[in-house]
Amino acid sequence: MADRFWFLFFAAFYCLIGILNASAGDSDPVYRACVEQCEKTGCVADQCFQHCRFSSSGVPVDGSWYMQRPLYWQWKQWDCQGDCRYFCMVNREKERETIDQRPVKYHGKWPFKRVFGLQEPASVAFSALNLAVQVHGWVSFFILLYYKLPLRQSKKAYYEYTGLWHIYGLLSINAWFWSAVFHSRDVDLTEKLDYSSAVALLGYTLILAILRTFSVRDEAARVMVAAPIIAFVTTHILYLNFYQFDYGLNMKVCIVMGVAQLLLWAIWAGVTRHPSRWKLWVVVVGGGLALLFEIYDFPPYWGYLDAHALWHASTIPLSYLWWSFIRDDAEYRTMNLVKKAK
Ligand SMILES: [Zn+2]
Repeated sequence: MADRFWFLFFAAFYCLIGILNASAGDSDPVYRACVEQCEKTGCVADQCFQHCRFSSSGVPVDGSWYMQRPLYWQWKQWDCQGDCRYFCMVNREKERETIDQRPVKYHGKWPFKRVFGLQEPASVAFSALNLAVQVHGWVSFFILLYYKLPLRQSKKAYYEYTGLWHIYGLLSINAWFWSAVFHSRDVDLTEKLDYSSAVALLGYTLILAILRTFSVRDEAARVMVAAPIIAFVTTHILYLNFYQFDYGLNMKVCIVMGVAQLLLWAIWAGVTRHPSRWKLWVVVVGGGLALLFEIYDFPPYWGYLDAHALWHASTIPLSYLWWSFIRDDAEYRTMNLVKKAK
């Protein structure tokens, strides 16, 4: 009896998730008919798209032999689908506006206006700025460590977390790069690359938070902390990419890892005597507030600025401050170590 109850419970639960996953816009029959028609004829109303010109065998009619299937053909199909969905959405939203209906989401996204062919121009711009802040932060960390602070006789830096922050720099640059690509053009591949890079970064920053807040300096102890988290995050990324792309599950994993590290830093900021602990406070509180943008979603203002774009905007100053904390930490630890050595 209990078995059957649980089975029904989970069946109902997953049906509900399935319904919630489809956005209101793309389940609209008028929109669906428009996209279906467009993928066959290549036209929406009197607008026709060159990407949608396929011959009957499925090979593009104007393709040279070396540019034919599969990759070029695949891109062309993505472009055709993208154009069809976009223009059907724009038309549908215009119709809805005339009868005073609020914007709805299509395929999980708000109806954004394209700029230079970019799907979500505001999110692309903010991702690019985040990328720039990360590159600047990393380069200035590098210069501080190797050109300004004293080095050991072996020419290595005194700071014990140097290598860990270098990897952090690389992973965050990678994540923001794929975020900019994904918001420019949302297809299966770019979405997977964006999500995977973000999860990898989040998992890694959790390891860093544990190692720094507990001052884990011993190599073996570091491996013991990192190994289970790396194993878990790798499994999760493989699961998303090759088994099932489960948004709900991914959201839970990200929230747990994100909140865990925010808590670690907050508690540490409360007990440590670190001279730059106020920067930690600002990042933790600011990061928590920024999360609200991800939770309270709203449709884009003027067709450009939605909650997700603002969430990406809010991480720009926070990342800047974060790298400034990392540099302070490097200086603080180095000075302590040099004093001890004397
Ligand atoms: Zn994003």
